[in-house]
Amino acid sequence: MKNEIIERFTKYVQVDTQSDPNSDTCPSTPGQWTLAKMLVEELKAIGMEEVTIDENGYIMATLPANTDKDVPTIGFLAHMDTAPEFTGANVKPQIVENYDGNDIILNEALHIVLSPKDFPELANYKGHTLITTDGTTLLGADNKAGIAEIMTAMAYLIQHPEIKHGKVRVAFTPDEEIGRGPHKFDVAAFGAKYAYTVDGGPLGELEYESFNAAEAKITIKGKNVHPGTAKGKMINSIKIAMEFHGQLPANEAPEHTEGYEGFYHLLSFQGNVEETMLHYIIRDFDRKQFEARKAKMQEIAAKLQEKYGKERIAIEIKDQYYNMKEKIEPVREVVDIAYEAMKNLNIEPKISPIRGGTDGSQLSYMGLPTPNIFTGGENFHGRYEYISVDNMIKATNVIIEIIKLFEQKA
Ligand SMILES: [Zn+2]
Repeated sequence: MKNEIIERFTKYVQVDTQSDPNSDTCPSTPGQWTLAKMLVEELKAIGMEEVTIDENGYIMATLPANTDKDVPTIGFLAHMDTAPEFTGANVKPQIVENYDGNDIILNEALHIVLSPKDFPELANYKGHTLITTDGTTLLGADNKAGIAEIMTAMAYLIQHPEIKHGKVRVAFTPDEEIGRGPHKFDVAAFGAKYAYTVDGGPLGELEYESFNAAEAKITIKGKNVHPGTAKGKMINSIKIAMEFHGQLPANEAPEHTEGYEGFYHLLSFQGNVEETMLHYIIRDFDRKQFEARKAKMQEIAAKLQEKYGKERIAIEIKDQYYNMKEKIEPVREVVDIAYEAMKNLNIEPKISPIRGGTDGSQLSYMGLPTPNIFTGGENFHGRYEYISVDNMIKATNVIIEIIKLFEQKA
């Protein structure tokens, strides 16, 4: 399995599939089409059935059931794009066999080193085969590792018909990194009862809680007058914006929070005397506290409207996604089976809340409960990204074990 996984993964990462939040098309970038076409051919070549790709670049495929038992259809998903914040062009994956626990020189000429001094978790990978970047790009293990693992698991099951299983659906999707992942995903056509995104990090990760998320845009209108004759007339919108921000609790910000703590995050503050715009994101795991955070922003805006005039302050708050736990907790078996699969393979499951969202947060609210499992990668979205091939094999085995368990429990 090892060579097969390395071959797939290194082939996928060499296609530049960086997504672009400023593009209106779906997929947002042409590179995603290039990879999508490769994946469609490969799914057919390994023997998957009902291989489809729609006009938005969503790929679906079926591994048909080989049992008469009434097993629920389950799905596995991974995304094709890489993060917009770091280049994914000309990725040159480097393979480190039998990692010795010391510094890994990513790029001699540019003096770029992946060191356990900066990344102490490297100690967990002594003896592993690692794949790194050459220091100039991201790797794209997020999420091409997930694609390689799902593809390899499907190929394995096709080659081992003695392993009984229900119907399995697979999907590869565009534009997760720009938050659009499942927007156009046809849940009905996918037709699974449960699904898993294979989009997590280190060994054992199993996630089914995400933030509740909203964004807020506040526009403040001032009145500009020549400063020499401004007394009693000028209204400086920048200062009202500062007053707005000053009324938010200073410690409830990303740089001061962790675990289950929520926050307000000021993304941008742009303006002049005449007009200032504030752009925030609001995050909380707890739905009530999430609603309270949004209400707090409305309250501050209302107070300032009272002080400066209603027309001066406009606030617009939009929900983005919700904590998938609400949708997954009632169908707990989807998490329990993944947990059991890891235990069966001597992998210690690590359940923790995702301080962000996944495609699963949206899919769960679209009617497809979708927790997230590990890929084996570390340091996503940057030049120090790397992945353990040993753990990629484990992720592949977890996929196979989940499929087996659904059959055994039916
Ligand atoms: Zn991802």
